Amino acid sequence: MKLQEYRSKEILARHGVPLLAGETATTPEEARAAAERIGGPVVVKAQVLVGGRGKAGGVKLAQTPDEAAQRATEIVGLDIKGITVQTVLVAPAVEIAKEYYLSLILDRAARTVTVIASAEGGVEIEETARTNPEAIVRMALHPLIGLQDYNIRRVAGALGIPKELRRDFATLMRGLDRAFFESDADLAEINPLVVTADGRLLALDAKIVLDDSALPRHPDLEAMRDLNEEEPAETAARAAGISFIKLDGTIGCMVNGAGLAMTTMDLVKLAGGEPANFLDIGGGAKAERVAAAFRIILDDENVRAILINIFGGITRGDEVARGIVEARRSLTREVPMVVRIVGTNADEARPILAEANLITAESLDDAAAKAVAAAAGPA
Ligand code: GDP
Ligand code: MN
Repeated sequence: MKLQEYRSKEILARHGVPLLAGETATTPEEARAAAERIGGPVVVKAQVLVGGRGKAGGVKLAQTPDEAAQRATEIVGLDIKGITVQTVLVAPAVEIAKEYYLSLILDRAARTVTVIASAEGGVEIEETARTNPEAIVRMALHPLIGLQDYNIRRVAGALGIPKELRRDFATLMRGLDRAFFESDADLAEINPLVVTADGRLLALDAKIVLDDSALPRHPDLEAMRDLNEEEPAETAARAAGISFIKLDGTIGCMVNGAGLAMTTMDLVKLAGGEPANFLDIGGGAKAERVAAAFRIILDDENVRAILINIFGGITRGDEVARGIVEARRSLTREVPMVVRIVGTNADEARPILAEANLITAESLDDAAAKAVAAAAGPA
């Protein structure tokens, strides 16, 4: 889960990272009031979970409260990479002398947390990686002892942080490290980290990405979720305890188990179709949960057929079949359904499905081929 800049800054500030927090606003009046409270020039920044807001016109300076209101008028409602801006951050503006990039990232390949830093900050790091890879410093932290003073000294040296700011840099990096670990993050990024014209070190932008699997340990962070930027279907799926990711194809997939769901999607592609989603219904697959999965899948207007692939283990095949038949009664839209159930009580499942006129399949290849054919037929 990605956190908005102002949320990320809230967490970093809590851990002692120096920054100028500012206030959020959703209307020009609120932006004016915030600028009045701050006093002096401010920067008005679109709060959307995409990079490159600056280039897209989502970051603007304002000298006066009136001007801040004007900038908010321009930015709220703006479409940035498909997201409509609803909130802006109004923060004290600073004069920038130098911009750096600094982040901590969970590096799965290195099996540890890695510092990524660059003296070429401000622009997107992917851009620097492409055009000037030597300008990026990567340093894997020791997986057990974590961030050490020598790591900090080396990064500061590589970036050329001015001598008189080295102590502040160490404090900042320690704070970034604590924020990263204590919130179970996958990424904590400051871009740009700046030295101001009056010689202060400040985090001007921040982005924290949390590990979704660790969210149950952080109800306070879970509460920071921004529903404005989430597919409504994904929100509904989470509430029903279903893992769901929307895709662009026409074949809805309902599967138990993440690995089996991935395999099912691969076979749909091999059969010449495109999956409309990833969906792992989890254990149990009771009628209620199946019904929720149907609703979520059919909410997508592109879906022309549903492929149900269930491996009965502890969950018995006949129970799942009954669940499917029952849940299907409550649907508002009919599409062909191909069902493959194997494992425990698969034999008992067959007559239940046949009686309900569902298309059945023995092998997964067969099921995928039938679903692709059904999706191509008259809807
Ligand atoms: P991003 O484009 O989405 O990464 O948004 P940023 O928050 O990083 O802002 C983009 C750029 O706007 C930064 O790299 C800075 O150059 C500039 N910027 C942001 N805040 C200030 C500020 O207070 N003063 C000045 N002069 N520039 C700023
Ligand atoms: Mn940035």
